[in-house]
Amino acid sequence: MKQPALLALGLALLPTPALANTLVTNVNGVQVAADGQLQHFTGLLIGDDGKVVRTLGPADDVGVKAMVVDGHGQTLLPGFIDAHGHVMDLGLAAMRLDVGGTRSIGEVQQRLRDYAAAHPETKWIIGFGWNQELWAEKRFPSAADLDSVVSDRPVVLERVDGHAIVANSAALRAAGVTSTTKPPAGGEIRDGLFVDAARTLIERVEPAPSRSELDGALAKAQAMLLSYGVTSVEVMSSPNDPWRAYWDTYDRAGRNGTLKVRLMSYTNGVEPLKTFTRPTAWLHRDHLRMVGVKFYADGALGSRGAWLKQPYSDKPDTRGLQFHSDAEMLRLAETAAAHGFQIATHAIGDAANAQLISIYEQLSRKYGTQRRWRIEHFQIVDPVDIPRLAPAGIIASMQPTHQTSDRLMAEARLGPNRLAGAYAWRSVLNSGAKLAFGTDFPVESPNPFPGLSAAISRQDVNGQPPGGWIPAERLTLGQALHAYTRGAAYAGFAEQKIGALEPGKWADFILIDRDPTQIDAQSLAKAQVLETWIAGKRVFSRSSAASPTERGQ
Ligand SMILES: [Zn+2]
Repeated sequence: MKQPALLALGLALLPTPALANTLVTNVNGVQVAADGQLQHFTGLLIGDDGKVVRTLGPADDVGVKAMVVDGHGQTLLPGFIDAHGHVMDLGLAAMRLDVGGTRSIGEVQQRLRDYAAAHPETKWIIGFGWNQELWAEKRFPSAADLDSVVSDRPVVLERVDGHAIVANSAALRAAGVTSTTKPPAGGEIRDGLFVDAARTLIERVEPAPSRSELDGALAKAQAMLLSYGVTSVEVMSSPNDPWRAYWDTYDRAGRNGTLKVRLMSYTNGVEPLKTFTRPTAWLHRDHLRMVGVKFYADGALGSRGAWLKQPYSDKPDTRGLQFHSDAEMLRLAETAAAHGFQIATHAIGDAANAQLISIYEQLSRKYGTQRRWRIEHFQIVDPVDIPRLAPAGIIASMQPTHQTSDRLMAEARLGPNRLAGAYAWRSVLNSGAKLAFGTDFPVESPNPFPGLSAAISRQDVNGQPPGGWIPAERLTLGQALHAYTRGAAYAGFAEQKIGALEPGKWADFILIDRDPTQIDAQSLAKAQVLETWIAGKRVFSRSSAASPTERGQ
């Protein structure tokens, strides 16, 4: 990496340390202003503390000495904030067997065979990413499918949405699961497939990743995130996450100076509140905070675990999985709220969303509407429930690429008459509620650009379907960028620090290879990040991307 050219500007006698400021100049700056309108600028002045002094127009006098970085006319945006991601899962998945994108059970078996041969020392083979919807067979996998390839050691493969796993017979034996084992409430077992709450039967005996594996996974995840221009993440727990081990991994990286991406952590349920009795302060120069508690109200649509008001169109004997009674859900939420935590609850089906809105309405009457109750996904919602969000101060935390990935499945699961409140971003905004965007990585790629593209087009990266799916729910580019920056910052109680390049906020920004205001949705989906900066330091550069996590602060 070349050092930026040094150039003294302005008066030499100002009482600032010599060349302590950085001026990023000659850029096409674009961000969403406080009023929601797109704002343009040509330069960014950064203080020696890594915070924004101000943005500049072409005629503005800088007024202080600064080290100048030439942006070569490239487009500069605030760093993206992913409001819902799984950082350790992203890194661990990259280190484990990848069965994502497979087109048949045979292809999964081939990858498993190759992986087993290449990793003879691995005691448990753990993989991630299958989706039976993409398979020629269109059926769920079974223990027998895996046994025919690997029978000498346990194999556990997780579905892409994290709501189901398939285990081979060696794993069932290790877990003591037999044909007479009953699934726990909120779970299901069929031929080696463990859905939602039943997964714990297997996962409780899986060996935990070692400390060095966790450190490696975090480094890997950060390298990926920075290459996609993601500078902050609201990190959601999954039901069986070793939340404390993950937190300790982030904290260790913070102390070692290797934590680049800012992380806001949400625990899995109330168990960690025994030691974390209140949200933490920001740690490591605003790089880490424990802010909230994550709950689940239901499962996912793919495995028919989403809890619906009416039966599934393609399986009329079920309405999905209700995880908690109203009283139990209220008791859990009340426990977190009483400790001062924000609450983020997964709800996919319309019944789960309605239940949760009622719970949050009750909490708002007791604690006020400023506690920023979050619903994660908010995918399938009865339109009558959407106007209930804003009065209770509820944030919809949504993932636009779920819409493009799930579209055909959602049509099959729900039929044509229940899609009016599906992935309804525009309806959320029109109702006056707050919207935050993310990707739910590694369920989807952490790359924000396909999401922005979907948000403005309701089309996938190939332009399907023509005209967009339920196009009335399209957003403007400004609304989509807002949800991915300011909206996501607000959803993490971080809008005073990040989400916009404004005086006093962190200089977290990216340079990209095209101007999103001048291109169509398909081109936007292909945008590439050239550089990523956090706290005024370059932490990723595509031209020298061999070791993106090595550079920077
Ligand atoms: Zn998630």
